[in-house]
Amino acid sequence: MPDTDPSRSRTATRDVILAVDVGESAFSAGLITTRGELIDRSIIEIEADVGPQSHFAGLASVVLHQRDQAARHHDVRVRAIGVSCAGEIEPDCVTVSPAHITAWRSFPLAEHLHELTGLPVYGDLDGKALALAEGWLGAARGVPSFAAIVVSASIGGGFLIDGELLDGRTGNAGRIGHAIVEPGGRRCHCGARGCLDAEASGLAIEAITGRRLDEPTWDIMRRTGRLVGRAAGMVCSALDLDLVVVGGRVAESFAATFFNAAQEEIDAVARVGQGAAARVTPSRLGDRAALIGAGAIGWRGVRRRGRTRPVPSRRRPAEPPLSVNVPVEAVDLPDWDT
Ligand SMILES: [Zn+2]
Repeated sequence: MPDTDPSRSRTATRDVILAVDVGESAFSAGLITTRGELIDRSIIEIEADVGPQSHFAGLASVVLHQRDQAARHHDVRVRAIGVSCAGEIEPDCVTVSPAHITAWRSFPLAEHLHELTGLPVYGDLDGKALALAEGWLGAARGVPSFAAIVVSASIGGGFLIDGELLDGRTGNAGRIGHAIVEPGGRRCHCGARGCLDAEASGLAIEAITGRRLDEPTWDIMRRTGRLVGRAAGMVCSALDLDLVVVGGRVAESFAATFFNAAQEEIDAVARVGQGAAARVTPSRLGDRAALIGAGAIGWRGVRRRGRTRPVPSRRRPAEPPLSVNVPVEAVDLPDWDT
């Protein structure tokens, strides 16, 4: 449903990113200004048991609605599409394989979105999107080094280190969901046993308990927090971090019980360096975090393309063209990694 607030559109700068979130239970799209304002959004539930093209048809409906909203109601220009998606992905969401949408395996999402709109498409993992969003406008604003974790249908993460978002060799840096938190535990879809994703993700909790996520017991909420805290604490020690921002529907709905357990476990396992002072905090951007993160991914992509010549990639068959020069200085983002 559209969430339009005309009064906010008057403050929007002229250019926006059309942000797309492949969320746990819904596809959403919105318009993100250079200052990170979410001026409009649409959402549609992800259908169960449909094919890949039917999923895309649902996503396309909210994307096209937002493109129309930009022109008709906000008088803004859409510069690019930014996508936040659960892993696995190829860089810029050339293909995506989110664990909870089984019909999408190596689905060419960027190509579909580009064919739909003609816009450049930049995409990244939901955990990295959360890190950018919270570092830009949320709970880690102004903090140069921290970890972000999404605890949702699956578990992902993103690490901002000395102002740089870690990408890794294939763009999938941040896979905290595959930290082993229960040695010998449940088999993970990656093949290992006891991964955080196999023990504490939304899909795992439902499989382990046989209960719906909205009917958790106190023990389930505590255990989930403890396991996320265990992985987070190890990361804080390894990377010398003292802040972990956690978002995602599971963490948000388990609330204080989850966060208290996570903090206790971090205190127990992170004992050196900055890690010894590490604290865990909820996402401050709530249900706007994913779209603001997708917007940040879009602006990051636009800015990078504006500063460097595109490098031909053997991995990427057809890069969407950027039709105009980019006024990169107009984008009010932290100087992440330029
Ligand atoms: Zn795993």
